[in-house]
Amino acid sequence: MVAIRYEDIVKVPKALLHDHLDGGLRPATIVELAAEVGHELPTTDPEALGRWFVEAADSGSLERYLETFAHTVAVMQTADSLRRVARECALDLAADGVVYAEVRFAPEQHLERDLTLDQVVEAVLAGFAEGTEQAAAQGQRIRVGTLLTAMRHAARSQEIAELAVRHRDSGVVGFDIAGAEAGFPPTRHLDAFEYLQRENFHFTIHAGEAFGLPSIWQAIQWCGADRLGHGVRIVDDITPGDPPVLGRLAAYVRDKRIPLELCPSSNVQTGAAASIAEHPIGLLRDLRFRVTVNTDNRLMSGTSMSREMALLVEAFGYGWKELQWFTINAMKSAFIPFDERLRIIDEVIKPAYAKLLD
Ligand SMILES: [Zn+2]
Repeated sequence: MVAIRYEDIVKVPKALLHDHLDGGLRPATIVELAAEVGHELPTTDPEALGRWFVEAADSGSLERYLETFAHTVAVMQTADSLRRVARECALDLAADGVVYAEVRFAPEQHLERDLTLDQVVEAVLAGFAEGTEQAAAQGQRIRVGTLLTAMRHAARSQEIAELAVRHRDSGVVGFDIAGAEAGFPPTRHLDAFEYLQRENFHFTIHAGEAFGLPSIWQAIQWCGADRLGHGVRIVDDITPGDPPVLGRLAAYVRDKRIPLELCPSSNVQTGAAASIAEHPIGLLRDLRFRVTVNTDNRLMSGTSMSREMALLVEAFGYGWKELQWFTINAMKSAFIPFDERLRIIDEVIKPAYAKLLD
Protein backbone atom coordinates (compact mmCIF):
# COMPACT_ATOMS: atom_id res chain seq x y z
CA MET A 1 0.00 0.00 0.00
CA VAL A 2 1.23 3.47 -0.86
CA ALA A 3 1.88 5.56 2.24
CA ILE A 4 -0.76 8.21 2.81
CA ARG A 5 0.61 11.74 2.82
CA TYR A 6 -0.76 14.36 5.18
CA GLU A 7 -1.32 16.89 2.40
CA ASP A 8 -3.46 14.34 0.55
CA ILE A 9 -5.59 13.82 3.67
CA VAL A 10 -6.14 17.59 3.77
CA LYS A 11 -7.25 17.62 0.12
CA VAL A 12 -9.69 14.73 0.34
CA PRO A 13 -13.30 15.61 1.35
CA LYS A 14 -14.13 15.02 5.01
CA ALA A 15 -17.31 15.28 7.08
CA LEU A 16 -17.44 16.37 10.71
CA LEU A 17 -20.39 15.99 13.09
CA HIS A 18 -18.97 16.96 16.49
CA ASP A 19 -17.11 20.25 16.78
CA HIS A 20 -17.62 22.97 19.41
CA LEU A 21 -17.59 26.59 18.25
CA ASP A 22 -16.10 27.78 21.57
CA GLY A 23 -13.45 25.07 21.32
CA GLY A 24 -12.11 26.04 17.92
CA LEU A 25 -11.10 29.71 17.96
CA ARG A 26 -7.90 30.94 16.35
CA PRO A 27 -5.46 31.97 19.13
CA ALA A 28 -4.74 35.27 17.32
CA THR A 29 -8.47 36.04 17.27
CA ILE A 30 -8.75 35.38 21.00
CA VAL A 31 -5.92 37.84 21.61
CA GLU A 32 -7.59 40.55 19.49
CA LEU A 33 -11.08 40.07 20.90
CA ALA A 34 -9.76 39.94 24.48
CA ALA A 35 -7.99 43.29 23.96
CA GLU A 36 -11.27 44.82 22.71
CA VAL A 37 -13.24 43.82 25.79
CA GLY A 38 -10.41 44.09 28.33
CA HIS A 39 -10.37 40.38 29.15
CA GLU A 40 -7.13 39.15 30.72
CA LEU A 41 -5.45 36.13 29.10
CA PRO A 42 -2.61 33.88 30.36
CA THR A 43 -0.47 35.36 27.54
CA THR A 44 -1.06 37.68 24.58
CA ASP A 45 1.38 35.93 22.27
CA PRO A 46 -0.84 33.91 19.90
CA GLU A 47 1.61 31.03 19.54
CA ALA A 48 2.22 30.73 23.25
CA LEU A 49 -1.52 31.04 23.85
CA GLY A 50 -2.21 28.17 21.46
CA ARG A 51 0.26 26.01 23.40
CA TRP A 52 -1.27 27.10 26.71
CA PHE A 53 -4.70 25.83 25.62
CA VAL A 54 -3.38 22.41 24.65
CA GLU A 55 -1.28 22.09 27.81
CA ALA A 56 -4.19 23.09 30.05
CA ALA A 57 -6.44 20.54 28.33
CA ASP A 58 -3.69 17.89 28.62
CA SER A 59 -3.05 18.55 32.30
CA GLY A 60 -5.62 16.09 33.62
CA SER A 61 -6.96 18.85 35.87
CA LEU A 62 -10.65 19.56 35.36
CA GLU A 63 -10.17 23.04 36.78
CA ARG A 64 -7.56 23.95 34.18
CA TYR A 65 -9.60 22.34 31.42
CA LEU A 66 -12.66 24.42 32.31
CA GLU A 67 -10.49 27.54 32.50
CA THR A 68 -9.77 27.19 28.78
CA PHE A 69 -13.47 27.59 27.95
CA ALA A 70 -13.80 30.49 30.39
CA HIS A 71 -11.39 32.42 28.11
CA THR A 72 -13.00 31.53 24.79
CA VAL A 73 -16.54 32.14 26.03
CA ALA A 74 -15.48 35.47 27.59
CA VAL A 75 -14.50 36.86 24.18
CA MET A 76 -17.72 35.63 22.49
CA GLN A 77 -20.27 37.94 24.10
CA THR A 78 -21.09 40.38 21.30
CA ALA A 79 -22.80 39.89 17.94
CA ASP A 80 -19.64 40.99 16.09
CA SER A 81 -17.34 38.60 17.94
CA LEU A 82 -19.73 35.65 17.55
CA ARG A 83 -20.05 36.40 13.87
CA ARG A 84 -16.29 36.61 13.41
CA VAL A 85 -15.60 33.38 15.32
CA ALA A 86 -18.24 31.53 13.28
CA ARG A 87 -16.93 32.96 9.99
CA GLU A 88 -13.36 31.91 10.81
CA CYS A 89 -14.56 28.49 11.93
CA ALA A 90 -16.19 27.86 8.52
CA LEU A 91 -13.07 29.13 6.73
CA ASP A 92 -10.69 27.00 8.81
CA LEU A 93 -12.74 23.84 8.34
CA ALA A 94 -13.02 24.47 4.58
CA ALA A 95 -9.26 25.03 4.31
CA ASP A 96 -8.80 21.65 6.02
CA GLY A 97 -10.89 19.96 3.33
CA VAL A 98 -14.04 19.55 5.42
CA VAL A 99 -16.99 19.62 3.00
CA TYR A 100 -19.72 19.12 5.58
CA ALA A 101 -19.60 20.20 9.23
CA GLU A 102 -22.04 20.36 12.10
CA VAL A 103 -20.77 22.88 14.62
CA ARG A 104 -22.41 23.22 18.02
CA PHE A 105 -22.49 25.84 20.72
CA ALA A 106 -24.55 26.76 23.79
CA PRO A 107 -26.41 30.08 23.26
CA GLU A 108 -27.07 30.42 27.00
CA GLN A 109 -23.32 30.96 27.55
CA HIS A 110 -23.25 34.10 25.42
CA LEU A 111 -25.69 36.34 27.28
CA GLU A 112 -23.25 38.31 29.46
CA ARG A 113 -23.51 41.51 27.41
CA ASP A 114 -27.21 41.95 26.79
CA LEU A 115 -27.66 39.79 23.69
CA THR A 116 -30.87 37.76 23.55
CA LEU A 117 -30.79 34.05 22.75
CA ASP A 118 -32.19 34.77 19.28
CA GLN A 119 -29.56 37.45 18.61
CA VAL A 120 -26.79 35.04 19.62
CA VAL A 121 -28.07 32.42 17.19
CA GLU A 122 -28.56 34.97 14.40
CA ALA A 123 -24.98 36.26 14.78
CA VAL A 124 -23.50 32.77 14.59
CA LEU A 125 -25.64 31.80 11.60
CA ALA A 126 -24.60 35.00 9.81
CA GLY A 127 -20.94 34.19 10.51
CA PHE A 128 -21.25 30.66 9.12
CA ALA A 129 -22.99 32.01 6.02
CA GLU A 130 -20.22 34.56 5.45
CA GLY A 131 -17.46 32.01 6.00
CA THR A 132 -19.14 29.54 3.65
CA GLU A 133 -19.44 32.20 0.98
CA GLN A 134 -15.82 33.34 1.37
CA ALA A 135 -14.57 29.75 1.24
CA ALA A 136 -16.56 29.11 -1.94
CA ALA A 137 -15.00 32.21 -3.51
CA GLN A 138 -11.61 30.58 -2.80
CA GLY A 139 -12.75 27.34 -4.43
CA GLN A 140 -13.40 25.50 -1.15
CA ARG A 141 -16.98 24.34 -0.86
CA ILE A 142 -18.33 23.64 2.60
CA ARG A 143 -21.83 23.23 4.04
CA VAL A 144 -22.12 24.11 7.74
CA GLY A 145 -25.07 23.05 9.88
CA THR A 146 -25.52 24.46 13.37
CA LEU A 147 -26.46 22.49 16.48
CA LEU A 148 -27.72 24.31 19.56
CA THR A 149 -26.47 22.88 22.84
CA ALA A 150 -28.17 23.12 26.23
CA MET A 151 -26.00 22.71 29.33
CA ARG A 152 -26.98 19.59 31.22
CA HIS A 153 -26.46 21.10 34.71
CA ALA A 154 -28.71 24.08 33.87
CA ALA A 155 -32.47 24.21 33.48
CA ARG A 156 -32.91 25.88 30.11
CA SER A 157 -33.10 22.86 27.81
CA GLN A 158 -36.76 23.37 26.87
CA GLU A 159 -36.09 27.01 26.01
CA ILE A 160 -33.02 26.09 23.92
CA ALA A 161 -34.93 23.30 22.18
CA GLU A 162 -37.62 25.81 21.19
CA LEU A 163 -34.91 28.22 20.04
CA ALA A 164 -33.42 25.51 17.81
CA VAL A 165 -36.79 24.70 16.24
CA ARG A 166 -37.46 28.41 15.70
CA HIS A 167 -34.26 28.70 13.62
CA ARG A 168 -34.58 25.37 11.79
CA ASP A 169 -35.18 26.98 8.42
CA SER A 170 -32.18 29.29 8.64
CA GLY A 171 -29.38 26.85 9.43
CA VAL A 172 -29.96 25.17 12.80
CA VAL A 173 -30.14 21.45 12.03
CA GLY A 174 -30.09 19.86 15.48
CA PHE A 175 -29.94 20.01 19.25
CA ASP A 176 -27.50 18.62 21.84
CA ILE A 177 -26.87 18.59 25.55
CA ALA A 178 -23.37 18.86 26.98
CA GLY A 179 -21.56 19.32 30.28
CA ALA A 180 -20.58 17.08 33.18
CA GLU A 181 -22.31 13.71 32.87
CA ALA A 182 -21.98 12.50 36.46
CA GLY A 183 -24.97 13.62 38.49
CA PHE A 184 -26.73 15.18 35.50
CA PRO A 185 -28.44 12.35 33.61
CA PRO A 186 -30.02 13.21 30.25
CA THR A 187 -33.44 12.22 31.65
CA ARG A 188 -33.42 15.55 33.54
CA HIS A 189 -34.24 17.08 30.16
CA LEU A 190 -36.98 14.69 29.02
CA ASP A 191 -39.44 17.51 28.37
CA ALA A 192 -37.08 19.05 25.82
CA PHE A 193 -36.45 15.75 24.04
CA GLU A 194 -40.14 14.89 23.90
CA TYR A 195 -40.86 18.34 22.50
CA LEU A 196 -38.18 17.87 19.81
CA GLN A 197 -39.59 14.49 18.84
CA ARG A 198 -43.06 15.98 18.44
CA GLU A 199 -41.45 18.63 16.19
CA ASN A 200 -39.75 15.94 14.05
CA PHE A 201 -36.40 17.52 14.95
CA HIS A 202 -33.01 15.85 15.31
CA PHE A 203 -30.81 15.64 18.39
CA THR A 204 -27.64 14.11 19.72
CA ILE A 205 -26.63 13.79 23.37
CA HIS A 206 -23.15 13.89 24.91
CA ALA A 207 -23.17 10.49 26.61
CA GLY A 208 -20.74 7.73 27.42
CA GLU A 209 -17.61 9.88 27.46
CA ALA A 210 -16.50 10.09 31.09
CA PHE A 211 -19.53 8.21 32.31
CA GLY A 212 -20.53 4.70 31.40
CA LEU A 213 -23.36 2.64 30.02
CA PRO A 214 -26.29 4.04 32.06
CA SER A 215 -25.75 7.40 30.41
CA ILE A 216 -25.77 5.87 26.91
CA TRP A 217 -28.81 3.73 27.75
CA GLN A 218 -30.75 6.75 29.00
CA ALA A 219 -29.78 8.88 26.00
CA ILE A 220 -31.11 6.27 23.59
CA GLN A 221 -33.93 4.47 25.36
CA TRP A 222 -35.39 7.29 27.44
CA CYS A 223 -34.54 10.38 25.47
CA GLY A 224 -34.58 9.01 21.91
CA ALA A 225 -31.22 10.44 20.78
CA ASP A 226 -30.49 10.10 17.05
CA ARG A 227 -26.75 9.96 17.72
CA LEU A 228 -24.33 9.65 20.65
CA GLY A 229 -21.85 12.43 21.37
CA HIS A 230 -18.75 10.27 21.96
CA GLY A 231 -20.53 7.09 23.11
CA VAL A 232 -17.06 5.59 23.43
CA ARG A 233 -17.92 3.73 26.67
CA ILE A 234 -20.21 1.43 24.67
CA VAL A 235 -17.13 -0.83 24.71
CA ASP A 236 -17.93 -1.55 28.37
CA ASP A 237 -20.81 -3.65 26.99
CA ILE A 238 -18.55 -5.69 24.72
CA THR A 239 -16.75 -8.76 26.12
CA PRO A 240 -13.37 -9.23 24.44
CA GLY A 241 -12.79 -12.55 22.71
CA ASP A 242 -12.82 -14.19 19.33
CA PRO A 243 -15.35 -13.11 18.34
CA PRO A 244 -16.14 -10.36 20.87
CA VAL A 245 -19.57 -10.73 22.49
CA LEU A 246 -21.96 -7.77 22.45
CA GLY A 247 -24.26 -7.09 25.40
CA ARG A 248 -27.86 -6.09 24.71
CA LEU A 249 -27.21 -2.34 24.68
CA ALA A 250 -24.14 -2.57 22.42
CA ALA A 251 -26.07 -4.90 20.11
CA TYR A 252 -28.97 -2.43 19.99
CA VAL A 253 -26.67 0.48 19.15
CA ARG A 254 -25.08 -1.50 16.33
CA ASP A 255 -28.34 -3.04 15.04
CA LYS A 256 -30.03 0.37 14.87
CA ARG A 257 -26.95 1.93 13.23
CA ILE A 258 -26.85 4.62 15.93
CA PRO A 259 -23.92 6.90 15.01
CA LEU A 260 -21.05 7.25 17.48
CA GLU A 261 -19.39 10.69 17.33
CA LEU A 262 -15.92 9.55 18.38
CA CYS A 263 -13.25 12.19 19.03
CA PRO A 264 -9.92 10.35 19.35
CA SER A 265 -7.58 13.13 20.60
CA SER A 266 -10.19 14.63 22.91
CA ASN A 267 -11.01 11.20 24.36
CA VAL A 268 -7.31 10.69 25.17
CA GLN A 269 -7.08 14.12 26.84
CA THR A 270 -10.10 13.48 29.07
CA GLY A 271 -8.92 9.97 29.91
CA ALA A 272 -11.78 8.19 28.07
CA ALA A 273 -9.04 6.35 26.14
CA ALA A 274 -5.44 5.66 27.20
CA SER A 275 -3.89 6.51 23.80
CA ILE A 276 -4.89 6.75 20.15
CA ALA A 277 -3.55 3.24 19.53
CA GLU A 278 -5.67 1.91 22.42
CA HIS A 279 -8.76 3.91 21.44
CA PRO A 280 -11.84 1.68 21.08
CA ILE A 281 -12.37 3.11 17.60
CA GLY A 282 -10.29 0.21 16.25
CA LEU A 283 -12.56 -2.43 17.80
CA LEU A 284 -15.76 -0.51 17.04
CA ARG A 285 -14.78 -0.17 13.40
CA ASP A 286 -13.90 -3.88 13.13
CA LEU A 287 -17.35 -4.67 14.57
CA ARG A 288 -18.89 -2.24 12.08
CA PHE A 289 -20.61 0.10 14.45
CA ARG A 290 -21.66 3.37 12.75
CA VAL A 291 -18.35 5.03 13.68
CA THR A 292 -17.58 8.64 12.79
CA VAL A 293 -14.36 10.60 13.43
CA ASN A 294 -14.55 14.07 14.96
CA THR A 295 -12.46 16.90 16.39
CA ASP A 296 -14.51 18.01 19.45
CA ASN A 297 -12.33 21.04 20.41
CA ARG A 298 -9.73 21.86 17.79
CA LEU A 299 -8.08 24.57 19.88
CA MET A 300 -7.81 22.59 23.14
CA SER A 301 -6.63 19.46 21.33
CA GLY A 302 -4.40 21.33 18.87
CA THR A 303 -6.08 19.34 16.14
CA SER A 304 -8.05 19.33 12.89
CA MET A 305 -10.09 16.77 10.96
CA SER A 306 -7.05 15.95 8.83
CA ARG A 307 -4.88 15.47 11.90
CA GLU A 308 -7.42 13.12 13.52
CA MET A 309 -7.51 11.07 10.32
CA ALA A 310 -3.69 11.06 10.13
CA LEU A 311 -3.42 9.85 13.74
CA LEU A 312 -5.74 6.94 12.94
CA VAL A 313 -3.80 6.09 9.79
CA GLU A 314 -0.63 5.98 11.90
CA ALA A 315 -2.10 4.02 14.83
CA PHE A 316 -4.24 1.51 12.93
CA GLY A 317 -2.70 1.41 9.47
CA TYR A 318 -5.89 2.65 7.84
CA GLY A 319 -5.93 3.46 4.13
CA TRP A 320 -8.21 5.52 1.89
CA LYS A 321 -10.87 2.81 2.06
CA GLU A 322 -11.29 3.28 5.80
CA LEU A 323 -11.11 7.09 5.59
CA GLN A 324 -13.86 7.01 2.99
CA TRP A 325 -15.91 4.68 5.20
CA PHE A 326 -15.65 7.10 8.17
CA THR A 327 -16.56 10.00 5.90
CA ILE A 328 -19.59 8.33 4.36
CA ASN A 329 -20.70 7.15 7.81
CA ALA A 330 -20.66 10.77 8.95
CA MET A 331 -22.61 11.95 5.91
CA LYS A 332 -25.21 9.19 6.38
CA SER A 333 -25.61 10.34 9.99
CA ALA A 334 -25.85 14.07 9.29
CA PHE A 335 -28.93 16.03 10.34
CA ILE A 336 -29.55 17.66 6.94
CA PRO A 337 -32.19 16.21 4.57
CA PHE A 338 -31.53 12.85 2.91
CA ASP A 339 -31.31 14.21 -0.63
CA GLU A 340 -28.63 16.72 0.39
CA ARG A 341 -26.62 14.02 2.19
CA LEU A 342 -26.83 11.78 -0.84
CA ARG A 343 -25.71 14.55 -3.15
CA ILE A 344 -22.57 15.19 -1.09
CA ILE A 345 -21.79 11.46 -0.92
CA ASP A 346 -22.35 10.80 -4.63
CA GLU A 347 -21.06 14.02 -6.16
CA VAL A 348 -18.30 15.09 -3.77
CA ILE A 349 -17.01 12.26 -1.58
CA LYS A 350 -17.14 9.16 -3.78
CA PRO A 351 -15.53 10.71 -6.90
CA ALA A 352 -12.63 12.12 -4.84
CA TYR A 353 -11.87 8.84 -3.07
CA ALA A 354 -12.37 6.83 -6.27
CA LYS A 355 -9.28 8.52 -7.70
CA LEU A 356 -7.23 7.49 -4.66
CA LEU A 357 -8.61 3.94 -4.40
CA ASP A 358 -7.63 3.00 -7.99
ZN1 LIG B 1 -18.19 17.54 22.71
